[in-house]
Amino acid sequence: MSNLKLTIGHLYPDLLNLYGDRGNIITLKKRCEWRGIDIEVKEFHLNDNIDFNSLHIVFLGGGSDREQLLVCNRLKEIKSEINSYVNDNGVVIAICGGYQLLGHYYKLKDETIEGLSVLDIYTEMGDTRLIGNVVIESNCLYPSNDTVKIVGFENHGGRTFINGHQPLGIVKYGYGNNGTDGYEGVIYKNVIGTYLHGPLFPKNPALADFILSKALQRAYPNTFRTLQPLDDSMEIKARDYIVNRFLT
Ligand code: GLN
Repeated sequence: MSNLKLTIGHLYPDLLNLYGDRGNIITLKKRCEWRGIDIEVKEFHLNDNIDFNSLHIVFLGGGSDREQLLVCNRLKEIKSEINSYVNDNGVVIAICGGYQLLGHYYKLKDETIEGLSVLDIYTEMGDTRLIGNVVIESNCLYPSNDTVKIVGFENHGGRTFINGHQPLGIVKYGYGNNGTDGYEGVIYKNVIGTYLHGPLFPKNPALADFILSKALQRAYPNTFRTLQPLDDSMEIKARDYIVNRFLT
């Protein structure tokens, strides 16, 4: 054992859980266990109190518009706690419906879902759904800042506009945030929002390790240096197969 311990807060897994998003939690857990890092996953349901000070990673998955509406009413009540956690460099990973909820609002045809305003972004429902495989290129990932390809699957009716934020990556195949500006996701402080389901982390282990590194740096600023490398050759082969299938 390494004396390092992380706690993941999985918010509303019974409502925000589309397209294998739970696989992301399993991946974070396994990648810690393989390195002797103690890891606990706490699931929070709608009426539970959340002590953000006890969490190192907050995970929000995707959900249908109806489920997002249910969640948004609860999020309104904990808006300032989540914003304080983010301002204190807390790590958040939010997928699709969860990503939209980090913004100011998601405007549907007849109603508007209020968001957390953690990110200066907004979402509006379009006339069609944006569905399919996605390949993006990102140079935001620790430690190398090299350009890496990230793959995933998207299925959303909302179009997200990220104002001055830095995107997670540039779309090489698929639609991304809105199908028009070529951006996918957002990276802000230690928050990543993205439309990529799939699940995301098993397909893109570099992104999983980026999240784990950020959480460990924040929790153990004096002792944590770097993650022990793992053999990701199978995962990288699978990822490269998808990249080659759609980019050639
Ligand atoms: N309900 C949202 C939309 O359709 C998010 C969907 C999702 O999480 N996959 O845009």
